[in-house]
Amino acid sequence: MPSGSASQSGSANAAGQLPSAPTGSDRVIWSGVEGSGKSVALTFDDGPDPQWTPQVLALLAQHHAKATFCEIGPLAQRYPNLTKAIIAGGDRLCDHSVHHDEQQSRKPVEYNIHEIVDAKREISDAAGNGAKLMYYRAPGGDWSTTVRVIAGANHLRPLGWSDDANDWRRPGVDGILRNINQDLRPGAIILMHDGGGDRSQTVQALARLLHQLDAQGYSYGFPA
Ligand SMILES: [Zn+2]
Repeated sequence: MPSGSASQSGSANAAGQLPSAPTGSDRVIWSGVEGSGKSVALTFDDGPDPQWTPQVLALLAQHHAKATFCEIGPLAQRYPNLTKAIIAGGDRLCDHSVHHDEQQSRKPVEYNIHEIVDAKREISDAAGNGAKLMYYRAPGGDWSTTVRVIAGANHLRPLGWSDDANDWRRPGVDGILRNINQDLRPGAIILMHDGGGDRSQTVQALARLLHQLDAQGYSYGFPA
């Protein structure tokens, strides 16, 4: 820690200046799961969605599996009960911006602050009871220094992934499982989607994946 630096408060200012982040908090988590043992972190992006999110939650509950949901702020506001159900199930929430702009980092700092800070508030308000968000995931993996520093200064760890299901391309259930198994290993952070389009393939793949992971002795944790 730099000498003389007290712990800095994370609120972004309106003047469009970069807030300073505590040391280390702006590093992207690419892999690693909390706790010990053979585990993976399941993550679901672009929801909540009234059709798919409940199906994902039901499958997770059947397998006593936990996951992290990276939500779009306005969708969390539209479907607060889904956001509450995620917290009630013991899962975690992650900020996935207001507009899912994959070129966000090329735009002014003020815009980046709005995308990150306003979505955090929207998701947190939807979850209620002072629910805390721990992570920020940049839409499209658009990780600039600006994005990482704003996230870190707002107590959101930048959350990447190590194992991309590419489920949004809808390659078929077997294709999704093949994509996941290619990079599956203890500590993997698996990226899937519970929103943003027809996720019937994702739900079917998840049902099979959870059986497979159970049989392989994996447990389910949160990114660390
Ligand atoms: Zn996304």
